[in-house]
Amino acid sequence: MPAEGQAFDYIIVDAGSAGCVLANRLSADPATRVLLLEAGGRDWNPWIHIPVGYFKTIHNPMTDWYYRTEADPGLGSRSLQWPRGKVLGGSSSINGLLYVRGQAQDFDQWRQMGNRGWGFEDVLPYFKRAEDQERGADAHHGAGGPLAVSDIRIRREICDVVIDAAEELGIPRSDDFNGIDQEGAGYFQLTARNGLRCSTAVGYLRPARARRNLRIETHALVQRLVLQGCQATGLIYEQGGREHAAQCRGEIILAGGAINSPQFLMPSGIGPQDHLREKGIAVAHDLPGIGANLQDHLQLRCVYKTSRPVTLNDALRNPLRRAAMGIEFALARKGPLSMGASQVCIFAKTEAALETPDIQYHVQPWSADSPGEGTHKFSAMALSVCQLRPGSRGQIRLKSANPGEYPAIHPRYLSTELDRRMAVTAVKFTRRLTETRALAPYIAAEFRPGPQFVSDAEILDGAREVAQTIYHPVGTCKMGADSQAVVDDRLRVHGIGGLRVADASIMPTITSGNTNAPAIMIGEKASDMILEDAQTGAAVPELRQAGGQAR
Ligand SMILES: Cc1cc2nc3c(=O)[nH]c(=O)nc-3n(C[C@H](O)[C@H](O)[C@H](O)COP(=O)(O)OP(=O)(O)OC[C@H]3O[C@@H](n4cnc5c(N)ncnc54)[C@H](O)[C@@H]3O)c2cc1C
Repeated sequence: MPAEGQAFDYIIVDAGSAGCVLANRLSADPATRVLLLEAGGRDWNPWIHIPVGYFKTIHNPMTDWYYRTEADPGLGSRSLQWPRGKVLGGSSSINGLLYVRGQAQDFDQWRQMGNRGWGFEDVLPYFKRAEDQERGADAHHGAGGPLAVSDIRIRREICDVVIDAAEELGIPRSDDFNGIDQEGAGYFQLTARNGLRCSTAVGYLRPARARRNLRIETHALVQRLVLQGCQATGLIYEQGGREHAAQCRGEIILAGGAINSPQFLMPSGIGPQDHLREKGIAVAHDLPGIGANLQDHLQLRCVYKTSRPVTLNDALRNPLRRAAMGIEFALARKGPLSMGASQVCIFAKTEAALETPDIQYHVQPWSADSPGEGTHKFSAMALSVCQLRPGSRGQIRLKSANPGEYPAIHPRYLSTELDRRMAVTAVKFTRRLTETRALAPYIAAEFRPGPQFVSDAEILDGAREVAQTIYHPVGTCKMGADSQAVVDDRLRVHGIGGLRVADASIMPTITSGNTNAPAIMIGEKASDMILEDAQTGAAVPELRQAGGQAR
């Protein structure tokens, strides 16, 4: 039965990486009534749980929202697929499982921007609280938390060779990108337990599901907020072809991610007023920063044909070897089916004088035109490289007032000189890697971008051709106190009471690495702030902006 006619203490919109954390933590007190709404279904598809199943769940409308960007000028007007999880666990159910937190400096920068309580020393306890590190706890890692983190269960000759190649370029070996120093080359750790994916639906929601005070509604598409003046008091969602109303006497927490959180606020009348009026939406509160500040990591997928049949492309062409992989996984939870999206990671500095790495490699001992499209029929590997702190900023805009219609996504990749220069530098760095004594004997030819791109201008053209999202959109409801900020440093929406955003959209700047662990940290920290503020009655922020009208 839908959750109509009942008032909840907390309503959480939706069950993604951060949303499942919030559902678990906020429902820990049996006296608190919590409603969790999720547009997708349950995580029953077995491919969600088998790590390599990532290739089956992205670009699958049962589990992926299946977004596409608008034609992007920076990529020669190409439009990219932007997968986002649409299932319990959200993107943590369909992501590449790579466990990376970012650099201490990322969070210290958030604090320097005026966000109290978000420096590295402040957020480290939340990373640790979340973590169940297979290697045990230490100063940087936690054990016994809901999110399993474990070593990769597959190693390959070509991956070891890439690590040797990086060492030749002066990049130290590393077996922990989340310890003291991020710089290094080594194997990723995965969010997995016993070879199976640990999404936040598995780690956080499963243990809480039986709680009588937690109500979980799936296939519930949340449409808009109900506001009384500048106070959020409930919301409307669609389920089974009908509209339902849910009332909230405490707080509504948006955790729809960097695309859906702004997309949900705007039809509710909260957003840039000119844009809302243009779409025929009555303005409840003018917040110009909603949907702005969109950031993503752009991967340049450099593909190299190998001189030896040492890649997974070779193994996958052979039906007997494919069968053996299935048996190995079924019996030992090892081998290629246990692999995440990439095996080897390199965090490197493109200039020795840099304090911290500015590029990251995702090394894959296989190649494809795009993940999910089948591997190439020849021996090849991908050295995908991305700039860690891009300057380009895009935006999310509504196409119409209809909350069911997908928004327009404008990433505006490579729209700054710095990003264009970095793209050229990254491709050149990759070529140097392939020319090392260790790796050169394995390389037959550069397949993408290709040897025809020689001058800097040509290399930039090549980069535009091979560029893809690495699925890290953030920043569209940014935290801060400036005129573009959407939430304050306790994640309360400026000018609206009883409403917070707690997901990857609140990051003022993108973290230097993969974004799932930071989204989970945000969920952990948000839940503490919400519970603290419930004690002190601080859920309603000061009205920072004049001009917001009640509707
Ligand atoms: C294909 C892919 C691979 C990735 N690989 C990695 C990786 O290997 N490592 C890493 O660290 N990060 C990776 N990421 C990024 C990482 O997973 C995300 O940054 C993170 O999951 C974002 O968490 P979130 O809570 O902000 O949003 P999400 O986890 O996306 O959650 C949003 C939830 O909101 C739901 N929702 C949205 N709108 C509505 C609505 N109107 N009504 C109801 N429900 C709604 C969605 O269905 C979803 O469940 C990857 C992402 C993708 C898509």
